[in-house]
Amino acid sequence: MRTIDQLAVADKRVFIRVDFNVPLKDGVVTDATRIEASLPTLRYARERGARIVLASHLGRPKGKCKPELSLAPVARKLSALIGQDVQLAPDCVGADVERLANALSPGSTLLLENLRFHPEEEANDDGFSRQLAQLADVYINDAFGTAHRAHASTAGMVRYVAARGAGFLLQKECEYLGKVLKAPEHPLVAILGGAKVSDKVAVIDHLLDKVDALLIGGAMAYTFLKAQGIAVGNSLVEADRLDTAARLLEQARRRGMQLMLPVDHRVSGSPRGDQPMQVVGQSIPDGWLGVDIGPETERCFAAEVAKAKTVFWNGPMGIFEIAAFSHGTMAMVDALVGSGALTIVGGGDSVAAVMQSGKADKISHISTGGGASLEFLEGRTLPGLAALEA
Ligand code: AMP
Repeated sequence: MRTIDQLAVADKRVFIRVDFNVPLKDGVVTDATRIEASLPTLRYARERGARIVLASHLGRPKGKCKPELSLAPVARKLSALIGQDVQLAPDCVGADVERLANALSPGSTLLLENLRFHPEEEANDDGFSRQLAQLADVYINDAFGTAHRAHASTAGMVRYVAARGAGFLLQKECEYLGKVLKAPEHPLVAILGGAKVSDKVAVIDHLLDKVDALLIGGAMAYTFLKAQGIAVGNSLVEADRLDTAARLLEQARRRGMQLMLPVDHRVSGSPRGDQPMQVVGQSIPDGWLGVDIGPETERCFAAEVAKAKTVFWNGPMGIFEIAAFSHGTMAMVDALVGSGALTIVGGGDSVAAVMQSGKADKISHISTGGGASLEFLEGRTLPGLAALEA
């Protein structure tokens, strides 16, 4: 896979697929992290005299033009960030847009309107892909968050553009996540949490023979505990995944790798934070549900992380959105920060927890793609990456 710095971009129409799917409130971007993450690529293209055409989706307009999901606020925010006027095209394809792209002067930027206003984008429609390709001499993908989707702008159009490569953000994502899968520095520890086992079975399967220890917290842990006959009270359990959990536990045991589950819990009568909380041992009494890992588990997990040279973390250890239940998740942030290991965090909620802690700059790499980072670690070929390699 080539990267933008290996391609001739001067005076070329450089189509950059970015992930500007940012939160908005009253027509204003409330968190510009994703825009900022693409700035190194945009600055590079601008400094080399590229004529930049940016494309992104925003929200879920479901193939219809929804004015509230226009990229206009993003154009304003980007203009402010780069100190240059970014023009917003009235659409992302068509003769008018082609004229605007062709009229770009070197170093200037055109932002296309929301790709998902057209149902053909997510359908990876061939005609639409060709129309997008009409706007490009060089294709660059810098949108890791959508690299696991085969859409027109991430996959379909790429074959119709002569030169293609990755932006710096995409390159960085592949480099760091690649380090987890290929020749990581050991011990390699993976921490998985969040709501569902079902979302993470494939990644557990793929990581089982790579990691030295797998630490499981969050609601996922209760399915694993129940599969071993341990009482979990009213905790969230995926009844249809008990067999899968038992199989994974057995595989881990046979391979002699450490699959660590919580040894104690913070429990409450409700998941809403409106009832008292207490710490219990590994069995959860009837009438109580697990809302966070317990203090002894925090210590055990932190001790594993302290020994690690590489750590990957996805998914909170409890219902961290409620401050009283966020202790375990924040303890993991601190463990990562203090480990001195190469630390990689992927997945919306664990990233949110790291941001909330104010310690994001102490983490080696924070992935911009939750779903994409999990699929990458499942060992699957991401369509957006495969398209660049073809
Ligand atoms: P995921 O999207 O799979 O990473 O799951 C994240 C969600 O899992 C967050 O909204 C958490 O509130 C939720 N979660 C974590 N631990 C628990 C728990 N013990 N009980 C219920 N939900 C949980």
